[in-house]
Amino acid sequence: MNTEVMPSISSSKANLLGMTREQMEDFFLGIGEKKFRAQQVLKWIHQIGVDDFGQMTNVSKALRQKLAGIAEIRGPEVVHREYSADGTRKWVMKVGNNSMIEAVLIPDGDRKTLCVSSQVGCSLDCSFCSTGKQGFQRDLTTAEIIGQVWIANRSYFEGEPIRENRERAITNVVMMGMGEPLLNFDSVVPAMRLMLEDCAYGLSKRRVTLSTSGVVPMLDRLGEEIDVALAVSLHAPNDALRDELVPINRKYPLSELLAACRRYLGRFQSEEGGRRKITMEYVMLAGVNDTPAHARELVKLLKDTPSKLNLIPFNPFPHAPYARSKREDILAFQKILADAGYICTIRSTRGDDIDAACGQLVGQVQDRTRRAERWQSRQDGSREIFRSAT
Ligand code: SAH
Ligand code: SF4
Repeated sequence: MNTEVMPSISSSKANLLGMTREQMEDFFLGIGEKKFRAQQVLKWIHQIGVDDFGQMTNVSKALRQKLAGIAEIRGPEVVHREYSADGTRKWVMKVGNNSMIEAVLIPDGDRKTLCVSSQVGCSLDCSFCSTGKQGFQRDLTTAEIIGQVWIANRSYFEGEPIRENRERAITNVVMMGMGEPLLNFDSVVPAMRLMLEDCAYGLSKRRVTLSTSGVVPMLDRLGEEIDVALAVSLHAPNDALRDELVPINRKYPLSELLAACRRYLGRFQSEEGGRRKITMEYVMLAGVNDTPAHARELVKLLKDTPSKLNLIPFNPFPHAPYARSKREDILAFQKILADAGYICTIRSTRGDDIDAACGQLVGQVQDRTRRAERWQSRQDGSREIFRSAT
């Protein structure tokens, strides 16, 4: 059993929120109950969105009382939320005593994509990333990771009476918030299992995306454990430049990273007739990695690795040493890749009334003293918003 489902210091009760189906089955067997209770309770928690055993009407009253005595359903604490006119929703959540994370939901047509954090801060220090600049604080638990999905999903049922046949609100999850998910593997994988689990969020494996900067050995482990869509933060077409932008490249250079990507695809490719691709994310930094020569180098680099490209206009933050590439340079870069046969999308920029930017969310959270002020006197203007890459 995952340590987090054991009673924590702050509470002597087992938190059911972070338990996978198997873990919850073990939990029920362990308290002398039938295994099928796990399915029922998972549905109540994740699909119907309750946090109170008293509301679980198909569970006997005696068991509800027993559960209330020994277990709880406890997600992160929402300390602030912003719902924008265009449907974007953002939550600032407190985890543990003092750490803040953010989750952002971006609607796009029929899709609702939630960008989820895996760690508080990040140890990898990519030069263009504000999360990296704040350093690493701690890993999130499975309950804290899935809790972001739980909170976002429940937000669509607010004020409604409890219904057993609720439609799931979230359609896609991207592990692209704060942190490097492969460095918190043991909590991230169970959380993704819950995203895929029929009794919980029931998302298809193509609609759950893990984004990594390239922790090569963990990529192989990921392939052994779970099948989800993979996005790789590439950002440079050669090792010299990538060493500078994504320092983990010094440990796991491009040749090793791309070989690991091919191994990952190779595991699952046969099921899908070879159509599956890795999404290569590429942040567009003016004059640094955005020239036609870089695009041509990228075409060559990726020729043996089934890939599609997602160009991300750089999202500036205070004291960032980069500027966003000009629109015309991004379009020229895209054209070179498209002409070479790659699917190449550009992450959308929209004017918006909240700060919502996947991948650099929590530089703002760290700035705690100014945060309240900023929320009150919100500046508008053009902000980068994630649009689903899957
Ligand atoms: N650690 C993982 C996932 C979180 S970052 C990773 O690096 O992939 C999610 C995405 O946002 C990554 O592609 C990351 O490179 C990108 N990103 C980080 N900072 C950014 C910024 N300032 N502007 C645009 N994209 C950024
Ligand atoms: Fe960490 Fe990803 Fe930011 Fe790099 S881009 S510092 S890996 S969160």
